[in-house]
Amino acid sequence: MKKINGISASPGIYIGKVFLYQDERLKVPKYQIEKEEIEFEFSRFLVAIEKAKSELEAIKDATKSMNISENEIVMLDSHIMMISDESFITQIKDIMCEKLLNVEWIFYEAIGAQIDKLSSSQNTYMEERVSDLRDIAKRILNNLMFKERIKLTDLQSKCVIVAHDLLPSDAIEMDKQNVKGIVLDVGGRTSHTAIIARSFEIPAVVGLFNITRNLKTGDDIILDGNAGIVIIEPDEETTKIYLEKIRRQEEIDQQLRPYVKKEAVTNDGKKIGIMANIEVPQELESVKSHGADGIGLFRSEFLLLQSKLYNSEDKQFEVYKTILQHMEGRPVTIRTIDIGGDKIIPNYEEIRERNPLLGWRGIRFCFSNRDMFKKQLRALYRASIHGNLRIMFPMISNVEEVDAALNIVEEVKRELRATSQEFKDKIPTGIMMEVPSAVLAVEFLAKKVDFLSIGTNDLIQYTLAIDRGNEKIAYLYQMYHPALLRLIKMTADAGKNAGIPVTLCGEMGGDPRATIVLLGLGIEGFSMSPASIPIVKKVIRNVEIKEAKEIVDTILQNGSGTEINTFIENWFNERFSGLI
Ligand code: PEP
Ligand code: MG
Repeated sequence: MKKINGISASPGIYIGKVFLYQDERLKVPKYQIEKEEIEFEFSRFLVAIEKAKSELEAIKDATKSMNISENEIVMLDSHIMMISDESFITQIKDIMCEKLLNVEWIFYEAIGAQIDKLSSSQNTYMEERVSDLRDIAKRILNNLMFKERIKLTDLQSKCVIVAHDLLPSDAIEMDKQNVKGIVLDVGGRTSHTAIIARSFEIPAVVGLFNITRNLKTGDDIILDGNAGIVIIEPDEETTKIYLEKIRRQEEIDQQLRPYVKKEAVTNDGKKIGIMANIEVPQELESVKSHGADGIGLFRSEFLLLQSKLYNSEDKQFEVYKTILQHMEGRPVTIRTIDIGGDKIIPNYEEIRERNPLLGWRGIRFCFSNRDMFKKQLRALYRASIHGNLRIMFPMISNVEEVDAALNIVEEVKRELRATSQEFKDKIPTGIMMEVPSAVLAVEFLAKKVDFLSIGTNDLIQYTLAIDRGNEKIAYLYQMYHPALLRLIKMTADAGKNAGIPVTLCGEMGGDPRATIVLLGLGIEGFSMSPASIPIVKKVIRNVEIKEAKEIVDTILQNGSGTEINTFIENWFNERFSGLI
């Protein structure tokens, strides 16, 4: 038995078997072939090359339609050229004839030799060629070895997925019936894969560094998403303890069930809005069954990660209409595409940025993909007649971006009018408060929009200068850092002054221990993963705003996020003993 500590990414306990989701590292086989097999081997190589070419052409086409920079197209063209190099292809055949070894090995060695030669150069141009060659080598070897990424959509039995990392696009598509837990080498509590795990109520522990090296498919595992612990090959005694924990958790869930139907009103009568965060329309049932007052954040970029719906205005319209109709007049906040950062579009993995979290993300990506952005806005406005829509823009860092986004909204409305499309003229438009510069200039921004929504996941990341998905510095991810508490308060105060609502939709909003702090800082609306709603409602119904303000007055005097954390945990454990 071995116990390993990681980061708790999604609550819940599961006892079961491991499915090791292999990473991308390739093991290239090496074996002798007969002379008569040379032609067959060579034809396999040609097929792999053709397949790689068409994959690159497909990426190029998609790239063009998204207005991605000339450089990327040039890079893809150069990859296609390298793959088509006749002399290299002939060289592979010649070596194969001489050595009588399988083609993937010959190719692997030949390209390896070229990479070694270029790598010894100090020149930047050569370094880029090395990375081009590596990409090409990986693509062709994948094709030769029929190595498709195993889909997590069609697993045969219930299991805990153990992987180095999961792309958010993999996670969104996984088979929810069979994936009972997620365990990753990398990641932090607010990485998007962790968020998806919470949305689907799949327990997860991340940031375990090299757990994939310690496990194989079929191993027994206990995953404790509440404590962030993984136990490999547990003994009988430990399994018994965990079975008891599962039973206790079921009891707590039972106790919390009545809160689904109750309103979130504090003991001193303040009504707090409780909304749900969702990534895909499949979560709509869960939104209702957990008692949300509406949807506070629909991360619309997952439509794009899931099925490239950005290509079709009509398909997007159908999705938005379904969500609005399902919510029957309750508010639905749809955030425009926030792609970038760790939310990589499949097939665009090649388009690397030196620093994606500070790069081409959110509203910035939308401005340079104006057609795509307008398509989404048109679909949203057309769908607006089917419910209570609110539109929100992500990653806003200054007033110019707000003006530019609102100008595009007006342009879209004019176009819809010109084509006699029906839509609601007055849709509340708001912005995410997740970049420190936006918060520090909040009084200017608040004048231009109808609501503000604080995204603590990114606000913590950008304020504390820590990558939210990096396990190595996860210990620095402090919810109660005084800087963050001040920024939340500034935003809440500015909203009140401007007479507009301020809600909070980062993961902190779904943490029942943080509820008292957020109430005291002046937050009057929360949006969270649906499963967190009952417990947060319970806390709200058992506290008073006066008490929350007193607690906040106390903690704002403290400069240490760690000490504040201990203070809040102690307070919570005393007041809500046994709830977590
Ligand atoms: C946030 O940053 O807090 C947020 C809600 O947005 P996302 O997690 O999608 O970046
Ligand atoms: Mg964000």
